[in-house]
Amino acid sequence: MKIDLHAHSNCSDGKESVEEVFRQAKLAGVDVLALTDHDTTHGWPLAAAAAKAEGIGFVPGIEVTTRAHVTSHEGKLRKFGVHMLAYLPDPNHEELKTVLRNSVESRELRLRQIVDKVGAVYDLTWDDVEPMIEAGATFGRPAVADALVKREHFKSRKHVFKALWGKNTKHDFYVPNRGVPDTIEAIKLIRLAGGVPIIAHPLSRGKGPKFGQPMPREHFEEMIAAGLAGFEVNHRDVSWRARRWLKNLAKEHDLIVTGSSDYHGLTGKPNRLGENTTSKEMLDRIIAQATGTSPQL
Ligand code: AMP
Ligand code: FE
Ligand code: FE
Ligand code: ZN
Repeated sequence: MKIDLHAHSNCSDGKESVEEVFRQAKLAGVDVLALTDHDTTHGWPLAAAAAKAEGIGFVPGIEVTTRAHVTSHEGKLRKFGVHMLAYLPDPNHEELKTVLRNSVESRELRLRQIVDKVGAVYDLTWDDVEPMIEAGATFGRPAVADALVKREHFKSRKHVFKALWGKNTKHDFYVPNRGVPDTIEAIKLIRLAGGVPIIAHPLSRGKGPKFGQPMPREHFEEMIAAGLAGFEVNHRDVSWRARRWLKNLAKEHDLIVTGSSDYHGLTGKPNRLGENTTSKEMLDRIIAQATGTSPQL
């Protein structure tokens, strides 16, 4: 049974409609798919219908943008983004709705700031970026990338990310998501809304400790104490060293481990539906912990 618990549609920064994502899931032989758009549940009703039409299962989810505030051993406060998957929360939970609305609003302001920075170097304005996003969808850097590709400055999203937000870039085009919940608060809120919080691609994309440095055990213990349910261990952006450490930590605390694709459409990212999967046992554990809404299996 192929269970993929992380995919995006054009309700956030995926390239395809919800219907197309489920069509592609069927083609890829996926039996159960979670739709986890960034900071929104807008795609859920479409996904329920599309999954039914394709004859596959659907797990409602959200990839919640959060910001961690962690004090290092030297006493320095470090802030960084953490993506928190929330499975099966109540989409009508008032506080969750408010927090997500604030995140979506602040994401738009932040993207406008990014466009100002990028526009100072490349020929690009907000009028190029806005049409790249469906009405009501969550704003993110991929829309800037799509606009730069459309203007033929770059070949693909990947090339834009490498040139603008990769390592050792000449300009600083980054603006953090400041209007999003603190990671610990988000974990507690997802639980309050009956959802199951699982960190998306933990320690990925250079966020893990460098070779020879210790793993951030205290940060993880703090998240676990707040109600974290598990880790998305098997994801292409998680290093083998991190996977090994996370699996041990999960065993120690009897937590859930998942695997997923993080699909963003055939042309959005190289990630392919079903390239990483979650066991039936782990999906059952997620469902057993959830009280917010039901999966459609
Ligand atoms: P943001 O939410 O604005 O911080 O943008 C992050 C999003 O950009 C992620 O959720 C991915 O969808 C996308 N992304 C990150 N790196 C890449 C990449 N190298 N190629 C394509 N998309 C990427
Ligand atoms: Fe994304
Ligand atoms: Fe993510
Ligand atoms: Zn994702």
